[in-house]
Amino acid sequence: RGEIAPLAALVGADQTAPLVTGGELRYVNLDIAASAPALVAVAERVAEFLPYYSSVHRGSGYASIVSTGAYENARRVIADFVGARFDDVVQVVRHTTDAFNLLARAVPGDVVHLDLEHHANLLPWRSSGSRQVAVAGTLEETLVALDAELAKAPAALLAVTGASNVTGELLPLDRLVAIAKAHGARIAVDGAQLVPHRRIDIEAAGIDYVAFSGHKVYAPYGAGVLVGRRDWLDAASPLLLGGGAVREVSTTGVSFAATPARHEAGTPNVVGAVAIAAALEELERIGEDAVVAHETALRTRLVDGLRQLPGVRVLEIWPGEAEVIGVATFSVEGFSAEQVAHFLSAEWGVGVRDGRFCAHPLLARLNGGRTAVRASLGLGSSSSDVHRLLAGIDQLVTHGPEWTYGVDGLPSVD
Ligand code: PMP
Repeated sequence: RGEIAPLAALVGADQTAPLVTGGELRYVNLDIAASAPALVAVAERVAEFLPYYSSVHRGSGYASIVSTGAYENARRVIADFVGARFDDVVQVVRHTTDAFNLLARAVPGDVVHLDLEHHANLLPWRSSGSRQVAVAGTLEETLVALDAELAKAPAALLAVTGASNVTGELLPLDRLVAIAKAHGARIAVDGAQLVPHRRIDIEAAGIDYVAFSGHKVYAPYGAGVLVGRRDWLDAASPLLLGGGAVREVSTTGVSFAATPARHEAGTPNVVGAVAIAAALEELERIGEDAVVAHETALRTRLVDGLRQLPGVRVLEIWPGEAEVIGVATFSVEGFSAEQVAHFLSAEWGVGVRDGRFCAHPLLARLNGGRTAVRASLGLGSSSSDVHRLLAGIDQLVTHGPEWTYGVDGLPSVD
């Protein structure tokens, strides 16, 4: 069990965190699933692009031509990375939440989804005829329940996550595609947690739409994508009204442009799109096999270590049944999730996430609605990061809450 070094350099990897005791330690970021710091390779590409910052699509100057080319090239890189069909559209949006809000206004019928979803892949459907299926005790029973719901009445879309943001469990997309197709429904995949960790080939897999966020694929905040079939999106009313989304505006009337311009009114986030493309090219260069090997080895250490600690319970939807990405959510008996997270930060310089992870129905199922702690790994994570977290939890469960914060606003635990 040797040391596992980071697989790629991330911006800010050498930051330190001030401790409540007065010292400081290298900051250990185990909250990668929320937002992954940018890859150094992405930051470099963005810096190269910035001198060409100029009007996009509308200017005829040299820098405008370069900016427009960079934006449209980013679309092509993104399409290639997810294996899009030649006539699919790549909509640059703000994030996954935006992508599903856009698709929800375009979907011409009911949407079937599970209750394990992130709110971004759950709430938008409520405005368009959502039929929610409860997760069953086993994966197999859950697939049967989905199939039965789709058989009950026609649905336009099955919307499903590729990987749970709470437990890291992967959903069997091949089986889900088969179920959707058998009932004449399209399938949309929430790739927010999947795309940073696993390749997806939407044409080969028969997936109709995939959405993901730049800030989870090691690019900056503020841009995400929806990739998939054009027809529903061409028929939908524009996401925003304004310049860029129109073909012609008369004194009183307007005709709208086709996709992607139709849903990209206003000046687009060119830097965001360029950064996503750079991140995907870097992921491609590193290779899926290396990413999976790195994250699996680290997650195994993390979960094995957590399970050895008394009172620590790792949450799972279908224990032992599904493959997992580098995410582990757990509770520590006798401590609230907030206490655990604050302790790890203040005393050990470790950043984790506590809460219900924008998946309240799933936390109700797995943890009685209580908050939990999530540690999540990525390309920049190392075995020493995992060991720091385990040492912190070990101190907490072994010695109890013997610390004093001396910092206003942090919870005190006696
Ligand atoms: N889906 C999943 C599975 C997620 O983990 C997240 C982010 N936590 C989202 C959707 C929403 O992503 P964003 O906040 O970038 O819109």
